[in-house]
Amino acid sequence: MPDHADARLRLFASIHDVSPRFESEVDALYDRLCGLLGSPRMAMLVVPDFEDAAPLTANPAYRAKLRAWADAGVEMFLHGWCHRDDSLRRGFMQKHMTAGAGEFAQLTRETAAQRLSEGQKVVEDAIGRPVAGFVAPAWLYSEGAIAALADAGFALAEDHLKVWSPASGNKVVAKGPVVTWASRSKPRILSSLMVASLARLAPSLLRDARIAVHPGDTTVPALLRSIDATYSQFVRTHRPSRYADLLS
Ligand SMILES: [Zn+2]
Repeated sequence: MPDHADARLRLFASIHDVSPRFESEVDALYDRLCGLLGSPRMAMLVVPDFEDAAPLTANPAYRAKLRAWADAGVEMFLHGWCHRDDSLRRGFMQKHMTAGAGEFAQLTRETAAQRLSEGQKVVEDAIGRPVAGFVAPAWLYSEGAIAALADAGFALAEDHLKVWSPASGNKVVAKGPVVTWASRSKPRILSSLMVASLARLAPSLLRDARIAVHPGDTTVPALLRSIDATYSQFVRTHRPSRYADLLS
């Protein structure tokens, strides 16, 4: 393991869109991150029923897989209910900006509360322990969603720029942009490669570095090379950490 000169620098690795819908991609990312980090010290963002077509409740084998990962130390976050933004038909911009993934971007407090409650139950039944927190699809939250998270007492939530604790008066516990990749189009691939390469130039600027991968990243070799280079660079200076550590 690398010698961490500054123990205050922390790395939070995560895999988004964990669902039976992307079983082989998530398996591949898990193996890859274990190799890069030297351990399963990572978070997984679990979708209870991706696009209403991949229900965890109907898949005991996948639930068992999630539990085994949680037993191995992976932190499990709830990541929406179906991941899809049902207001799509109303908003071109939403679709354009997030590929329709901003499920919690426009929800009322009541609808958000219902999806949080049902999703938490499904994921916690699978993993046999409390979820570590909640991350909205595409990191987009309506005001109602933020209020519902606090009402429900989730320990942690994050968006593009920060991590906060809904259970503690929405106290911000980490700041700094997420480093992540986009695989949907050539311009997005190129811009995400550029951001990652900039982050690698000065890793210590991100004291609590969040680096997130998605199933689609596995389909683009240039993204995988950038992912490998970025985690490899950060583990030299940053200690792979648990989001829960942000609360202590
Ligand atoms: Zn997602």
